[in-house]
Amino acid sequence: MKQVLVVEDDLAMSRGIVLALKNEGLILTEAHNLRDAERLRRQKAFDLILLDCGLPDGSGLDWCVQVRRESTVPIIFLTANDTEYDEVAGLEAGADDYITKPFSLAVLRARVGNVLRRQAGSSCVQLDEYLFDFERLVFTRDGEPLELSRNEQKVLQLLVCSRGSTVPRERLLDRVWGDTEYVDENALSVTIRRLRSKLEEDPSAPRYIRTVYGVGYTWAVKG
Ligand code: CA
Repeated sequence: MKQVLVVEDDLAMSRGIVLALKNEGLILTEAHNLRDAERLRRQKAFDLILLDCGLPDGSGLDWCVQVRRESTVPIIFLTANDTEYDEVAGLEAGADDYITKPFSLAVLRARVGNVLRRQAGSSCVQLDEYLFDFERLVFTRDGEPLELSRNEQKVLQLLVCSRGSTVPRERLLDRVWGDTEYVDENALSVTIRRLRSKLEEDPSAPRYIRTVYGVGYTWAVKG
């Protein structure tokens, strides 16, 4: 069963969300402030976080940036007004979706269902001769196992999850090396080079991991 963390200080709202999602086969945990949210997040592996923006001990947006440095857990923001929406929209470090209050329970269920389905679809991917299982950490090419370092796995997952579109260098650096104090820009290029040499038939003319000059990298999808 999927674990969902609801971070909301409006107790009636929090209760309502829990009741609405309980029947969807989800296990709900409530936190009414960021301190509790952070403690719970460290105790349990959540599949989704529903996050209010304004909490008594800080901003949900700031906490999201902090969480993103360590985790790719999907986050749906619960925004109260246009200003919060703008902030979420401008948040590079990433919300997966947002819901504007007041929302209907049907909308809530649909959005949560979408994000969880997307998440399930991204943890194990079969692409041509490759199989990437980011949950069990099994990677193969034509059935032959590929040995990937943790950072190589993270970069690969970000590229594969957004396959067909370009992932900016900054986002890759932030998501993979965001918690290290000093990041050598070169670390990303080195990781890409290693991934190509492990995955590509001809690493000097990559078919899948393409460079988009001045922007970032993309996992190319066959047309
Ligand atoms: Ca609030």
